[in-house]
Amino acid sequence: MKVYISVDMEGVSGLVRWPDVITSGIDYARGRRFMTADTNAAIAGAYDAGATEVLVEENHGVEDLCNLLMDEIDPRCRVIRGAGRPYSTTMAGLDASVDVVLLVGHHGRAGSRPGIMAHTVSYGEFKLVTLNGRPVGEPDLFAIRAGEFGVPIGLVTGDQVVGAQVLAIAPSAETVEVKRALSNVAGDCIPPARAVNLIRDGARRAVESAAAGRLEPYRGEPAPYTIDVALRNPACDSLKENLAALPEFELVDDHVVRTVAEDMDVGFRRVAYLGYAKRPGVRRY
Ligand SMILES: [Zn+2]
Repeated sequence: MKVYISVDMEGVSGLVRWPDVITSGIDYARGRRFMTADTNAAIAGAYDAGATEVLVEENHGVEDLCNLLMDEIDPRCRVIRGAGRPYSTTMAGLDASVDVVLLVGHHGRAGSRPGIMAHTVSYGEFKLVTLNGRPVGEPDLFAIRAGEFGVPIGLVTGDQVVGAQVLAIAPSAETVEVKRALSNVAGDCIPPARAVNLIRDGARRAVESAAAGRLEPYRGEPAPYTIDVALRNPACDSLKENLAALPEFELVDDHVVRTVAEDMDVGFRRVAYLGYAKRPGVRRY
């Protein structure tokens, strides 16, 4: 039983505001400890349920996707971290050898109100991301990619908003609500010392469900995927120049970029690229 854990930071227990998850925040170092503790709880739960291999992948874009504390992470796992990974930026370790995906510390999609630090891929650049006309968040993109491999989503931890959004596409998944979103930057939190027990139990139940064949891979979205990224600001000249050189992107109007992807590996990479595509001359992703 191989378990893949994607770890983000916005949905980690105890964290509610942007300075909690960026390098300059007064509690960022403490937040990394909470993130590592939430992850360790999921790893422990996976092993409680009979996992034989746990692969953790970092999904939080700050510090080149290196946020977990490597001297505190459970030594039984492996961790994929660092930017510039081949294939999908934050799904490099997700393939058909995985039996179940656990999403730890994830957050609601762009446009969620409330939803603690809700966004999809790029908070600064993206207002909304839709796929075949449906608003999507990062868990949707993970579920679609995992579904392409026949792998189900078993668990999400975070606020009630991301929990509901995951249940909509993975109705048998476990949701662990470590905090209740009151707005986009405020929440009613279970202290991390208690939240880790809930996460461990949730991860154990998720892996037990996967082992018993009770989870279905998500295959609700027909490929190819038409992905529209609505930008917060009108496309600037350097973005227009970059996209003009890349025929796989279409500027629908001055705020919306469209791409049609055959699978979610390339789809995710293109969405991630649009987060930095306004840098002059940057045309690789
Ligand atoms: Zn993040």
